[in-house]
Amino acid sequence: MVSENVAPTQLVVIGAGPGGYAAAFHAADRGMAVVLVDADPKPGGTCLVRGCIPSKALLHAAHLIEHARAAKSWGIDFGEPRIDLAALRTWKSAVVDRLAGGIRELAKRRKVRIITARARFLDSHSLELTPTAPAETAAPSRLEFEHAIIATGSFPAVPPALAVHDSRVLDSTSALDLPDVPPRLLVVGGGYIGLELGSVYTALGSRVVVVELTDGLLPGVDRDLVRPVARRLERSFEAIHLNTCVERLEAEPAGIVARLRGEGVPAAEPFDRVLVAVGRRPNAQQLGLENTRVQCDARGFVQVDSQRRTHDPAIFAIGDVAGEPMLAHKAAHEAKVAVDAITGGRAMFGPAAIPAVVFTDPEIAWCGLTETQAAADNRPVRITRFPWTASGRAQAIGRTDGLTKLVFDPDSQRLLGAGLVGAGAGELIAECVLAIERGATAPQLAHAIHPHPTLSESIAEAAEAFSGLTTHLYDPRRGK
Ligand code: FAD
Ligand code: NAD
Repeated sequence: MVSENVAPTQLVVIGAGPGGYAAAFHAADRGMAVVLVDADPKPGGTCLVRGCIPSKALLHAAHLIEHARAAKSWGIDFGEPRIDLAALRTWKSAVVDRLAGGIRELAKRRKVRIITARARFLDSHSLELTPTAPAETAAPSRLEFEHAIIATGSFPAVPPALAVHDSRVLDSTSALDLPDVPPRLLVVGGGYIGLELGSVYTALGSRVVVVELTDGLLPGVDRDLVRPVARRLERSFEAIHLNTCVERLEAEPAGIVARLRGEGVPAAEPFDRVLVAVGRRPNAQQLGLENTRVQCDARGFVQVDSQRRTHDPAIFAIGDVAGEPMLAHKAAHEAKVAVDAITGGRAMFGPAAIPAVVFTDPEIAWCGLTETQAAADNRPVRITRFPWTASGRAQAIGRTDGLTKLVFDPDSQRLLGAGLVGAGAGELIAECVLAIERGATAPQLAHAIHPHPTLSESIAEAAEAFSGLTTHLYDPRRGK
């Protein structure tokens, strides 16, 4: 029952993640009256509260531990790390809290009203808001709006076979809480989350076993980019079981027993904890969409056009809930497109390159056309590679386990795609995104002066390889 009305608004944004708060801020900057609703009292969404930021804080700590260990071979021995889990948790939470406070402050300055409540559509121009924070009034209220943007994100998928209600079975949210460092951890899923959080727990001292359904880690990513990561993880993880299915999880007093099906894999193994990371699902249920004209596709994603408008002219959708890739920067970009459309602009969502980064050690980053996709499409491309063994910077930091690969159109010489694996690859990929978006060619990339000694030179050298004239590689076909 709706007890009270909130003052009507021009725009309501549901979800304060990287899509939602970006949309609210852009709209407010364009002079709109904006209400931002989130069920979580802490703004920032999955990305800030239980995703990108806490996982990267922990990965930073994990990389530090690994790098300190590696320094032994250069004559520097720090000894074994002593880990204070409570202090690590506190540091990670402080990072999140500081950023959440920043979002609140930015909202306040822009006069964006944040309401802590669960939103549900009553019709195409009104929402029921049920308070979720104790400080808010207990009764639901009604909010009328001219436009709404749905930015409700996604949640972890749990197949029925893995749905065990036992606190030793974790999803990404509970794994980021660092309940303890389990002696043995099973990670179900060799994708982004499995490898990133598996790396964190390994560095902290767990023996990690990864089970992946397909025949390789990070399915869909070019194999030459995955190889250096897989090689390193094969050494640091206890085991990686590919082509393997977890048929069942059973909660026993001594541990969680995983029943496995795969060649050469034990049929049943006990673990202290299990992390289930087998993908995410769009958060479009229980939004009352049946009371609007919004439609979802067979996988549950809200259907949108190139301006992110749903089938309901007053309602837009952005971010994870509106389709893949489920990445924070894609959500933030869509926010600008949707706000532009609402304010009468003509912006369209049609990027030539959405970057993706897996923050393992080494990192993998790619954007635009991949080699795998070009082959699947039978599209003629010219691929150039620069192995980091030939990079002075990579040698100097002891990280030659890298590769820079560029995918060009053979006729126009334009850059169509890029893939990097190596230390800091995630920071390097942005140059390739810009080059693809601006239609840069191999000679243009090669002639732009890159600073020395940096890993960014590998991009210029891979571009030089298009003509066969690479300074630090010998190509017998040079100049042809
Ligand atoms: P979200 O960030 O999911 O925010 C949705 C918000 O909507 C939530 O705050 C939720 O409380 C709120 N909400 C939902 N339903 C309602 C309702 N009915 N009423 C009110 N509020 C509601 N992406 C990257 O790009 N880089 C990374 O490094 C990265 N790391 C990740 C690590 C982990 C462990 C996870 C789980 C994800 C990671 N992602 C990463 C993915 C990234 O978090 C998402 O792509 C991104 O958060 C999507 O943003 P969004 O705005 O669409 O939704
Ligand atoms: P994912 O899609 O990246 O990986 C899931 C993996 O689980 C796949 O390799 C899949 O083959 C495997 N799998 C599926 N069912 C299985 C089963 N029953 N047994 C064993 N393996 C199984 O999903 P995720 O790791 O859960 O991450 C979800 C999404 O969150 C990502 O796709 C990405 O969009 C986002 N994310 C991004 C980052 C980043 O940008 N660095 C980090 C974390 C998450």
